[in-house]
Amino acid sequence: MTLPSPRLAKRVNLKDEHLITRMLNIADGLEDVIKLGRGDPDLDTPGHIIKAGQEALANGATHYTHPLGIHPLREAIAQNIRDYGGADYAADEIMVTPGGQQGMFIIALSLLDPGDEMIVPCPGYNPYQQAAELCDAVVVKIPMGMETNFTLTAEMIEPHITPRSKILVLINPNNPTGSVTPPDEVRKIAELACKHDLIVISDEIYARLVFGNHRVQPVASLPGMYERTITLSGFSKAYAMTGWRIGYIAGPRDLITPMSEINHAFAISTAAVSQHAALAALVGPQDCVEEMRLLYDARRRAICEGLDAIGMSYAEPQGAFYVYANVASLKLGLGAGAFCERLLAEGRVMMYPGTIYGDHTDDFVRMSMTQPLDRIKTAMKRMGSVVANIRVENARNPMKTGAR
Ligand code: PLP
Repeated sequence: MTLPSPRLAKRVNLKDEHLITRMLNIADGLEDVIKLGRGDPDLDTPGHIIKAGQEALANGATHYTHPLGIHPLREAIAQNIRDYGGADYAADEIMVTPGGQQGMFIIALSLLDPGDEMIVPCPGYNPYQQAAELCDAVVVKIPMGMETNFTLTAEMIEPHITPRSKILVLINPNNPTGSVTPPDEVRKIAELACKHDLIVISDEIYARLVFGNHRVQPVASLPGMYERTITLSGFSKAYAMTGWRIGYIAGPRDLITPMSEINHAFAISTAAVSQHAALAALVGPQDCVEEMRLLYDARRRAICEGLDAIGMSYAEPQGAFYVYANVASLKLGLGAGAFCERLLAEGRVMMYPGTIYGDHTDDFVRMSMTQPLDRIKTAMKRMGSVVANIRVENARNPMKTGAR
């Protein structure tokens, strides 16, 4: 018997999974590791949201709900989308899912036939690829680089469009790069989608977490886009609710209704308690979102200052809570994967190589801003020491440095 099944092995990138497992194993044997790996906020869910969940449980929210989600939550999501300049969805055009993550698989299973092509930004959040591969669809990767600060442009996408192109994924702000696609570029991408009859999955889960003057243009409210866009978002990031496992997709009724059948087959409904908590998140005070955004902004600046001090270049972090830093700019003779392992073993700082997110180079690492400011500052110092040690080692063995 071959395990895992060759069918699964074909679909998931086991090489990079092994790398994460290896890093987690190294971390297991170490004390005081500063974890800048996972995209899971260290911050707790705001108190009024937790309280709403507790009250909902006490009041009997212990049952299945409508497969699309409870009505007041869907109304609140529709209102929230409108408030931020998105499309005007009715409540039956919103489907609450157990995390945005499940939404990706539901969309893929309902739209992709074998051989259909899904265009994805690379690097970009990798479960989109896994979802397409599960459907025997073809993943068409658009490599992005520092030239555009890792944002997708219409010009980059167009040459990759073929008669089999069906879905275009836009992740804005992007994970792992923290880049925000400028509104004008989003408009051009939307025009391209109309011209080539593509469905756009617009992942706007980090849209509330943007810095400086950057802002996110919702795709579905652009001309001709409502009928061809599925907006995917959730509560994990803006409200620090990763563990509640709740997100949503929004789109035209024709698309959402069949998807609700798949959601039902997967999960019947999203946990009732999480839905009541998410309702409180949307209708309650919003200062918590701004407080968290400001915290991330301070952490972002600390990471950038630390990288500047080390002499490591990085993409401008414009949104989400990641900094995408260029290991190759250090000229250490190490790829990003090897650098992450050394940094963990010697510096007790964990971060992930960009290859996990489909980066075609082994040059970048993703650093999550999901630790308190003082821990981030310590992490940057530790990183500086590891880089200095590698430089001393390389000076002793100049042949080892290579071209990188
Ligand atoms: N979209 C992006 C770009 C993400 O980075 C993530 C999680 O990291 C998700 C969606 C899924 O989030 P959740 O399933 O917690 O809603």
